[in-house]
Amino acid sequence: MTRSGADRTRYIFVTGGVVSSLGKGIAAASLGVLLKERGLRVTLQKLDPYINVDPGTLSPLQHGEVFVTEDGAETDLDLGHYERFIDASLSQDNNTTTGRIYRNVIDSERRGDYLGRTVQVIPHITDEIKRSVRVLAPGHDVVISEVGGTVGDIESLPFLEGIRQFRQEVGSRALHVHLTLVPYIRAAGELKTKPTQHSVRELMQTGIQPAVLICRTEHPLDDQIRAKIASFTNVDPAGVIEALDVDTIYEVPLEFRRQRLDDFLLERFGVTAPAPDLRDWTRIVERIKAPARGVVRIAVVGKYTELVDAYKSVEQALIHGGIANDVEVAIDWIASEEIERGLDPSFLAGYHGLLVPGGFGDRGIEGMIAAIRWARENELPFLGICLGLQCAVIEFGRHVAGLKGAHSYEFDQTSHHPVICLMDEQRNVTTKGGTMRLGAWDARLTRGSLAAKIYGSAEISERHRHRYEVNNDYRMLLKAKGLAFSATSPDGKLVEMIELPGHPWFVAGQFHPELKSRPTRPHPLFASFVEAGAALALGVSEPKTAAVGA
Ligand code: GLN
Repeated sequence: MTRSGADRTRYIFVTGGVVSSLGKGIAAASLGVLLKERGLRVTLQKLDPYINVDPGTLSPLQHGEVFVTEDGAETDLDLGHYERFIDASLSQDNNTTTGRIYRNVIDSERRGDYLGRTVQVIPHITDEIKRSVRVLAPGHDVVISEVGGTVGDIESLPFLEGIRQFRQEVGSRALHVHLTLVPYIRAAGELKTKPTQHSVRELMQTGIQPAVLICRTEHPLDDQIRAKIASFTNVDPAGVIEALDVDTIYEVPLEFRRQRLDDFLLERFGVTAPAPDLRDWTRIVERIKAPARGVVRIAVVGKYTELVDAYKSVEQALIHGGIANDVEVAIDWIASEEIERGLDPSFLAGYHGLLVPGGFGDRGIEGMIAAIRWARENELPFLGICLGLQCAVIEFGRHVAGLKGAHSYEFDQTSHHPVICLMDEQRNVTTKGGTMRLGAWDARLTRGSLAAKIYGSAEISERHRHRYEVNNDYRMLLKAKGLAFSATSPDGKLVEMIELPGHPWFVAGQFHPELKSRPTRPHPLFASFVEAGAALALGVSEPKTAAVGA
């Protein structure tokens, strides 16, 4: 096997055509799994053509969840897939946007770096694009860069030109993979290759010849179709890969391996490596497809429920919790506004757990509070995440601690009991982009708490994205009324977790545990939450905590 240094790094560029939402991120991540399991050091990158510097200021309804990395970058949700698939922590460098590229170039221009010259898309923007790919080379044998959007979009042109030049510069150390759609026309009873032909032609017009075509399809591609696609696109028939719809995204690497996609790529690169070890992946897929112990029903009550992508990592972490407990997790996404419009929270009696995820702005807050109240009073397992913790504290303040009108300063600046307030370091912040408390921060767990038992340790590090916190002026009172603060920042100043002693499972964190959950290493909070749900669903005695591991 070639253990290559920076200059030996191989590059795979993944583009998409025909339509969006074909699962380019999953395809790229699956390629990553195969190469990683062959012993290569792999990283993944997303190049996003939009002009926002990062997705931090975008509504999750626009572009799905904002994924936060250890180093506090607010990134595209595909980075979540990458991390879950290759089980690595990525950073700011793994996601760049047109906005960031232009900002870097314009900053250089202002510094005088291009003195005397006209700054242009080619070469200055394309050079910056290539640089943003190359920074990932050190320490990696393979860098997989996915270009967001669809070939033919005006926005993606500079990226396509950048990755074309890249191949020109490094030769056979770079390959292009193109994802397309091969639709099945029911009336004709046929698979149609025309959209793929058009899409590849569009790509070729930018000077890019793909080495591999990954064809999304509902029906298997027979040899004839494969040969036809290959001949129209100059792609080797062995490089025409079918990507059939699968039951779980974690099956995609196995599907690609079945078609020897990794062998094909490594041969093209001239790299030899042992066959991949896919035992973990096979076991994960088997557990998801045929869990042994039954179904746990979880209600997620939040504000962006029309778009599952808005809670991608929460969804995946719950699935991982199912893997840990060998159960199926059936998730219903319920808009908290429905509760405000009259849906009685007692519908929660049909579930084995309530999860209230993160969010911003006051829409639907009262619905979340009502749902949490029901879970607290009816001993339904409850997991609160960030805003979910804040709503649980408001609920407890109002209905247990007798703090009339208790609220978060984010939603009501006139409340007499702002139990959630703006963090001190946020008081003078005036710009919105990248200014929250972001990324990994340590927390100290309270000895003897359920949280400490679940984590099985005294110190944790979790990823954050928030501006507000539990108001320390109310900590004594809330504690006296029975709310336990089970984790704080190491200096004790910031509440990081709460729980309710006496309730079977009522836990919330000011951070986002879902961002660190992996199918191979389910997050302890999700594993334990689903376990508590399983105890309710399957009538198992006391939930044992801290049963983690696939
Ligand atoms: N809006 C809240 C805050 O800024 C919660 C943030 C979140 O849920 N990620 O603190």
